[in-house]
Amino acid sequence: MDPNCIFCKIVAGTIPSRKVFEDEDVFGFDDINPVAAVHFMLIPKKHIASLADAGPEDAAVLGKILTLAARLAREKGSPEGFRTIVNTGKIGRQDVYHLHVHIIGGPNPLPRMI
Ligand code: 5GP
Ligand code: ZN
Repeated sequence: MDPNCIFCKIVAGTIPSRKVFEDEDVFGFDDINPVAAVHFMLIPKKHIASLADAGPEDAAVLGKILTLAARLAREKGSPEGFRTIVNTGKIGRQDVYHLHVHIIGGPNPLPRMI
């Protein structure tokens, strides 16, 4: 836990969030500023600043997050697909330096980004 990290505080419950998932090493919550009808994030409970800081010891939790993404997207109202985004570092326009996977979807096709 990094005491200055807002996502660590969300995991700890000291900052409120709309939780969509929790187990021993993953936490999921709705994005406060959604860009689509479905927009939540999955994060490792462990403080990892960004994807560029993840090591081989983090592979299991990152794999778990990706498989959870599909299940939760279906359950949250995006049964026909979704987009996953991991902004990394300054070039990747990362704002919050606790690794998070955005899951974005909904009933309508998203605008093309890439
Ligand atoms: P990124 O670092 O991927 O650029 O963006 C961080 C994301 O976290 C943004 O989409 C922003 O809306 C979201 N966010 C920032 N602060 C909070 C917060 O306190 N609560 C929640 N639920 N989302 C947040
Ligand atoms: Zn953190």
